[in-house]
Amino acid sequence: MSMDNRGKEPIQEGSSRSAVPSGDHLPQPTQLSRYESQKRRDWNTFGQYLSNQRPPVGISQCNSTHVLEFLRYLDQFGKTKVHFNGCVYFGQPEPPGPCTCPLKQAWGSLDALIGRLRAAYEENGGLPETNPFASSSIRVYLREVRDSQAKARGIPYKKKKKRPNRSLMKPNSSNTSSSIPLHQS
Ligand SMILES: [Zn+2]
Repeated sequence: MSMDNRGKEPIQEGSSRSAVPSGDHLPQPTQLSRYESQKRRDWNTFGQYLSNQRPPVGISQCNSTHVLEFLRYLDQFGKTKVHFNGCVYFGQPEPPGPCTCPLKQAWGSLDALIGRLRAAYEENGGLPETNPFASSSIRVYLREVRDSQAKARGIPYKKKKKRPNRSLMKPNSSNTSSSIPLHQS
Protein backbone atom coordinates (compact mmCIF):
# COMPACT_ATOMS: atom_id res chain seq x y z
CA MET A 1 0.00 0.00 0.00
CA SER A 2 1.48 3.29 -0.97
CA MET A 3 -0.46 6.25 0.23
CA ASP A 4 2.24 8.80 -0.17
CA ASN A 5 0.69 11.23 -2.54
CA ARG A 6 -2.82 11.34 -1.40
CA GLY A 7 -2.77 15.00 -0.56
CA LYS A 8 -5.74 16.79 -1.95
CA GLU A 9 -4.31 18.60 -4.86
CA PRO A 10 -6.63 21.41 -5.75
CA ILE A 11 -7.93 21.14 -9.22
CA GLN A 12 -5.94 23.53 -11.27
CA GLU A 13 -7.42 26.90 -10.93
CA GLY A 14 -7.98 28.89 -13.99
CA SER A 15 -10.43 30.01 -16.52
CA SER A 16 -11.20 26.60 -17.83
CA ARG A 17 -14.56 26.03 -16.28
CA SER A 18 -16.76 26.96 -19.18
CA ALA A 19 -13.99 27.35 -21.65
CA VAL A 20 -12.92 24.88 -24.21
CA PRO A 21 -10.03 22.61 -23.38
CA SER A 22 -7.04 24.63 -24.32
CA GLY A 23 -5.77 22.32 -27.02
CA ASP A 24 -6.86 23.48 -30.41
CA HIS A 25 -9.41 21.52 -32.26
CA LEU A 26 -8.09 18.08 -31.75
CA PRO A 27 -11.14 15.90 -31.56
CA GLN A 28 -10.71 13.72 -28.57
CA PRO A 29 -13.83 11.66 -28.19
CA THR A 30 -14.89 12.75 -24.72
CA GLN A 31 -14.03 16.38 -25.16
CA LEU A 32 -15.68 16.57 -28.52
CA SER A 33 -19.18 16.08 -27.23
CA ARG A 34 -18.58 18.54 -24.44
CA TYR A 35 -17.26 21.03 -26.91
CA GLU A 36 -20.18 20.41 -29.21
CA SER A 37 -22.78 20.89 -26.54
CA GLN A 38 -21.05 23.97 -25.23
CA LYS A 39 -20.96 25.31 -28.74
CA ARG A 40 -24.64 24.71 -29.21
CA ARG A 41 -25.42 26.39 -25.92
CA ASP A 42 -23.30 29.40 -26.85
CA TRP A 43 -24.96 29.63 -30.21
CA ASN A 44 -28.40 29.57 -28.64
CA THR A 45 -27.38 32.20 -26.12
CA PHE A 46 -26.14 34.43 -28.86
CA GLY A 47 -29.30 33.94 -30.90
CA GLN A 48 -31.33 34.76 -27.83
CA TYR A 49 -29.31 37.87 -27.27
CA LEU A 50 -29.90 39.01 -30.85
CA SER A 51 -33.62 38.43 -30.66
CA ASN A 52 -33.78 40.42 -27.44
CA GLN A 53 -32.39 43.47 -29.16
CA ARG A 54 -34.77 46.29 -30.03
CA PRO A 55 -35.47 45.80 -32.82
CA PRO A 56 -34.52 42.13 -32.94
CA VAL A 57 -31.54 41.29 -35.08
CA GLY A 58 -31.55 38.30 -37.39
CA ILE A 59 -28.47 36.18 -37.53
CA SER A 60 -28.01 37.15 -41.17
CA GLN A 61 -27.92 40.84 -40.27
CA CYS A 62 -25.54 40.31 -37.43
CA ASN A 63 -22.19 42.01 -37.73
CA SER A 64 -19.09 42.41 -35.65
CA THR A 65 -20.59 45.34 -33.74
CA HIS A 66 -23.28 43.06 -32.39
CA VAL A 67 -20.66 40.55 -31.42
CA LEU A 68 -18.64 43.15 -29.57
CA GLU A 69 -21.72 44.33 -27.73
CA PHE A 70 -22.48 40.76 -26.86
CA LEU A 71 -19.02 40.28 -25.38
CA ARG A 72 -19.39 43.40 -23.25
CA TYR A 73 -22.83 42.31 -22.20
CA LEU A 74 -21.37 39.03 -20.96
CA ASP A 75 -19.03 40.83 -18.60
CA GLN A 76 -21.80 41.21 -16.05
CA PHE A 77 -21.76 37.44 -15.63
CA GLY A 78 -17.99 37.30 -15.33
CA LYS A 79 -16.10 35.88 -12.39
CA THR A 80 -12.68 37.32 -12.96
CA LYS A 81 -11.64 40.30 -10.92
CA VAL A 82 -10.04 42.89 -13.13
CA HIS A 83 -8.51 45.73 -11.17
CA PHE A 84 -8.76 49.32 -12.19
CA ASN A 85 -5.57 51.15 -12.83
CA GLY A 86 -5.99 53.06 -9.57
CA CYS A 87 -6.70 50.04 -7.39
CA VAL A 88 -4.03 49.22 -4.79
CA TYR A 89 -4.14 45.63 -5.99
CA PHE A 90 -3.61 46.54 -9.59
CA GLY A 91 -1.18 44.05 -11.02
CA GLN A 92 -1.46 41.59 -8.16
CA PRO A 93 -2.49 38.11 -9.16
CA GLU A 94 -3.56 37.22 -5.62
CA PRO A 95 -4.74 40.29 -3.76
CA PRO A 96 -4.69 39.97 0.02
CA GLY A 97 -8.04 41.66 0.44
CA PRO A 98 -11.26 42.67 -1.24
CA CYS A 99 -11.73 45.67 -3.46
CA THR A 100 -14.54 47.14 -5.45
CA CYS A 101 -13.18 46.48 -8.89
CA PRO A 102 -15.58 44.76 -11.25
CA LEU A 103 -15.79 41.15 -12.19
CA LYS A 104 -15.47 40.46 -15.86
CA GLN A 105 -15.20 37.61 -18.25
CA ALA A 106 -11.68 36.30 -18.39
CA TRP A 107 -9.96 36.80 -21.66
CA GLY A 108 -9.49 33.05 -22.11
CA SER A 109 -13.22 32.44 -21.81
CA LEU A 110 -14.05 35.08 -24.37
CA ASP A 111 -11.42 33.83 -26.73
CA ALA A 112 -12.73 30.28 -26.53
CA LEU A 113 -16.30 31.49 -26.85
CA ILE A 114 -15.53 33.39 -30.04
CA GLY A 115 -13.87 30.29 -31.43
CA ARG A 116 -16.99 28.22 -30.79
CA LEU A 117 -19.38 30.82 -32.16
CA ARG A 118 -17.23 31.31 -35.19
CA ALA A 119 -17.48 27.61 -35.96
CA ALA A 120 -21.18 27.51 -35.16
CA TYR A 121 -21.90 30.39 -37.49
CA GLU A 122 -20.55 28.53 -40.47
CA GLU A 123 -22.09 25.25 -39.42
CA ASN A 124 -25.42 27.02 -39.40
CA GLY A 125 -25.10 28.17 -42.94
CA GLY A 126 -23.16 31.39 -42.58
CA LEU A 127 -20.53 32.22 -45.13
CA PRO A 128 -16.91 32.38 -44.02
CA GLU A 129 -16.54 35.70 -45.86
CA THR A 130 -19.25 37.32 -43.78
CA ASN A 131 -18.49 35.58 -40.51
CA PRO A 132 -18.71 38.38 -37.94
CA PHE A 133 -16.81 36.33 -35.39
CA ALA A 134 -13.83 36.22 -37.69
CA SER A 135 -13.66 39.95 -38.17
CA SER A 136 -10.51 41.80 -37.34
CA SER A 137 -12.26 44.13 -34.93
CA ILE A 138 -13.03 41.14 -32.73
CA ARG A 139 -9.41 40.08 -32.83
CA VAL A 140 -8.33 43.57 -31.88
CA TYR A 141 -10.83 43.70 -29.05
CA LEU A 142 -9.73 40.34 -27.67
CA ARG A 143 -6.12 41.39 -27.80
CA GLU A 144 -6.91 44.55 -25.85
CA VAL A 145 -8.82 42.57 -23.26
CA ARG A 146 -5.97 40.13 -22.94
CA ASP A 147 -3.35 42.83 -22.52
CA SER A 148 -5.33 44.88 -20.07
CA GLN A 149 -6.22 41.85 -17.98
CA ALA A 150 -2.65 40.69 -18.01
CA LYS A 151 -1.59 44.04 -16.60
CA ALA A 152 -4.43 44.35 -14.14
CA ARG A 153 -3.87 40.96 -12.64
CA GLY A 154 -0.14 40.69 -13.12
CA ILE A 155 -0.49 37.50 -15.05
CA PRO A 156 0.90 37.39 -18.53
CA TYR A 157 -1.39 35.29 -20.64
CA LYS A 158 1.25 33.11 -22.09
CA LYS A 159 2.09 29.52 -21.74
CA LYS A 160 2.00 28.51 -18.15
CA LYS A 161 5.15 26.99 -16.88
CA LYS A 162 4.67 23.70 -15.23
CA ARG A 163 5.63 23.93 -11.63
CA PRO A 164 7.03 20.99 -9.80
CA ASN A 165 4.69 19.63 -7.19
CA ARG A 166 5.14 21.38 -3.93
CA SER A 167 3.77 18.59 -1.83
CA LEU A 168 6.86 18.05 0.29
CA MET A 169 5.85 20.58 2.91
CA LYS A 170 2.46 19.07 3.45
CA PRO A 171 2.25 16.15 5.79
CA ASN A 172 -1.22 14.80 6.53
CA SER A 173 -2.95 18.08 6.86
CA SER A 174 -6.38 16.60 7.16
CA ASN A 175 -6.53 15.96 10.89
CA THR A 176 -3.75 18.03 12.34
CA SER A 177 -5.72 21.05 13.28
CA SER A 178 -3.66 21.74 16.35
CA SER A 179 -0.70 23.30 14.69
CA ILE A 180 -1.50 26.93 14.92
CA PRO A 181 1.49 29.02 14.04
CA LEU A 182 2.40 31.25 16.95
CA HIS A 183 3.82 34.66 16.60
CA GLN A 184 7.00 35.29 18.46
CA SER A 185 7.44 38.78 19.70
ZN1 LIG B 1 -9.15 46.05 -7.38
